[in-house]
Amino acid sequence: MSLRLSMSIVGAAEAEAVRRVITEDGYLGIGKETQRFEQDVAAYLGVAEKNVVSANTGTAALTLAVDALRPTPWNRPGKPRVLVPSLTFVASFQAVLAAGCEPVACDVLPDTGTLDLADAERRLTPDVFAIMPVHYASNPWHIDEAHAFARRHGLRVIEDAAHAFGCRHKERKIGSFGDAVCFSFDGIKNITCGEGGLCVIFNDEEARIAADARLLSVEGDTAARFSGTRTWDPDVKRLGWRFHMSNIMAAVGRVQLGRLESEFIPARRRLAALYAERLADLKDIALLRQSPDDFIVPHIQVVRVLHGRKDELKAALAARGIPTGVHYKPNHLLTLFRPAADALPLPVTEQLHSELVTLPLHPGLSDADVSGVCDAVREALK
Ligand SMILES: *Cc1c(COP(=O)(O)O)cnc(C)c1O
Repeated sequence: MSLRLSMSIVGAAEAEAVRRVITEDGYLGIGKETQRFEQDVAAYLGVAEKNVVSANTGTAALTLAVDALRPTPWNRPGKPRVLVPSLTFVASFQAVLAAGCEPVACDVLPDTGTLDLADAERRLTPDVFAIMPVHYASNPWHIDEAHAFARRHGLRVIEDAAHAFGCRHKERKIGSFGDAVCFSFDGIKNITCGEGGLCVIFNDEEARIAADARLLSVEGDTAARFSGTRTWDPDVKRLGWRFHMSNIMAAVGRVQLGRLESEFIPARRRLAALYAERLADLKDIALLRQSPDDFIVPHIQVVRVLHGRKDELKAALAARGIPTGVHYKPNHLLTLFRPAADALPLPVTEQLHSELVTLPLHPGLSDADVSGVCDAVREALK
């Protein structure tokens, strides 16, 4: 068996859209196609176009959101802090740092791998201005509680929804409510632009700051470029980056968005349901918990391997040509983000890290592929 853990599902329609941008439009940078992509995503989520800011990666989108929401000016000795679950892609932590803030690693819940709000509360200091819940394995678990927690403590909520495009909580799409919600459209996410990202920022002024900041904070440059011109006499008042999404990326993204509901969502959900059904009776495997309030479009298929059998399972699957992944090595174990010696421990994150295995999941897999993986898991854990 030769399977991919994840992969881009792109073809003739995406190629045709890119060809059209190159040979008919001829303008490759941020322009009309990028604007149309933002309009399409805004319509899909049911939010205003002015609140949608596309970017060249999900990491850039997170950086823009943290930068736009951080309190300025900041007249304290330390940096503004953001509470982030340690169990996330290093992108979440690097984005906080890139925006001039300090990530504070928090523990997660054992059943879901999502931010443990009780642990986050213990790590609160006066310098904390935001929490960054990560919708781990596309699970928007406790998102209402996270918002209530933030309101109670006067914090902002910056969601890392890189896994969660297409997901819903109580029938409301992720990205249609909140403070700031950030998506990734890198090659293997629920939809791709090749590379790409986008943040929805619900405060109009903060959204404007982010839209400018992705173009070096040249004031009003987004509107100019969308109408095919540029600002030749601009002002710049704050830090900015070259984080914009090009017309080429947007063209791919628009085709992918059109395939999301009809193709990608049903395929990902069908394959994940098959995994759940076929692995349910294995005593050494536990699936992550989900709420009936949530409609989940799984980006990754994560299982917990209990009783210390993780390495054994990974080796047995590798021997059969089945790749597995690790999502993620906890950030507090990385040199750059090692916590202070007196920081509270993160026992659940470390326990989960010793259990989590990611199995192949993408819309290019057949039911037979997933059944084959499940048979191999069963055989390995016999
Ligand atoms: C993919 C991902 C990101 C970053 O997105 P890129 O587009 O790859 O920069 C951030 N957080 C999580 C949890 C991710 O999976």
